[in-house]
Amino acid sequence: MKSTLQATCSACGRTHAIPVWNGINVADEPELKARVKDGSLFVWECPDCGTVNLIRSQVLYHDPELRLMVWLLPSGAVPEEQVATVEAALNAQAAGLEGYVLRRVDDVGSLIEKVNIHDAGLDDRILEMCKYVTKMELAEKDRAHAAVLLDAPFKFFRMEGADNEITMSYPFEGQMHGVQIGFNVYEDCRGILQRNPAVQTGGGFAKVDAAWLSRYFR
Ligand SMILES: [Zn+2]
Repeated sequence: MKSTLQATCSACGRTHAIPVWNGINVADEPELKARVKDGSLFVWECPDCGTVNLIRSQVLYHDPELRLMVWLLPSGAVPEEQVATVEAALNAQAAGLEGYVLRRVDDVGSLIEKVNIHDAGLDDRILEMCKYVTKMELAEKDRAHAAVLLDAPFKFFRMEGADNEITMSYPFEGQMHGVQIGFNVYEDCRGILQRNPAVQTGGGFAKVDAAWLSRYFR
């Protein structure tokens, strides 16, 4: 589902009508999944100066096979007074769907992460717990940078190998770093969440991120 957006180039300031995707169903259009994952679906190149700009529009990503819907809503993409209406429409659309994971994210990087996590067969709530315990461990080892590490936006990168090692990435001192954790950490984190049934995502399109987890663990 495409529409046209008037977008202004961040470099030359000229405005162009660009086609944007508002709904992506990867069962209907499987070729779009790769373009979501590499981010190319969310950028446009200015025909005047060649600058590659980020598209700021809302998108509903739907993977019927994995029963996943992720609603990307960048701040400012929808006027504030319309957000509740859009959300109600999406909730109505999702209401009849059994066993679905419904998520809301603010930025393209987080949408890509949600898709990668669910493609790997993992649970993003458990992943948030993994990030938290990994940050605590890194901060323990490097106390001088503890605050920076605890604040850094960690992202799931991939799971690989026979042992299902999980790699997460995070920015630190101007560079991207990677940290690997064993699958046992993931299993431990699943156990922590199972022992804390108060940790809930709520109804509808839930935000599951560091801020969500910090309501329960800090
Ligand atoms: Zn331009």
